Amino acid sequence: MENLFCPMCRLRQPTEHAYCVSCGATLPSHLVAGGPEKVARFFAGIKVGTGDPENGYLRVSCYRKEHRIESQEGSVQMTGNHVRVSMWVENEARCVMSLPESEAREMADFVLEQISATHPRSELPQLG
Ligand SMILES: [Zn+2]
Repeated sequence: MENLFCPMCRLRQPTEHAYCVSCGATLPSHLVAGGPEKVARFFAGIKVGTGDPENGYLRVSCYRKEHRIESQEGSVQMTGNHVRVSMWVENEARCVMSLPESEAREMADFVLEQISATHPRSELPQLG
């Protein structure tokens, strides 16, 4: 079962929701249609430079099993065991890239190590 997370406040909620029950933001529920072959989460971005977008967010999808995506344009076979990362602004994907699970694990370990070294989880500022 997939989970839908609000890109603004990160509240988890049912995929049937169109708007966040907490903050009212439009939920990207159209992105999570599909089966249990993958799990997707959204991570809210912050603007730190003048060229950075407002309301940008990162979508991270873990594809656990091979599966097929059908659409009006045709069908695509998605290989399993990879992590697909896409950068979104509003309802548009600006770029997308997939990592093998080994690289995704390295990335996760790297970020966790670096952040934990300077800021324990309890000290990190909360969004929203
Ligand atoms: Zn929200």
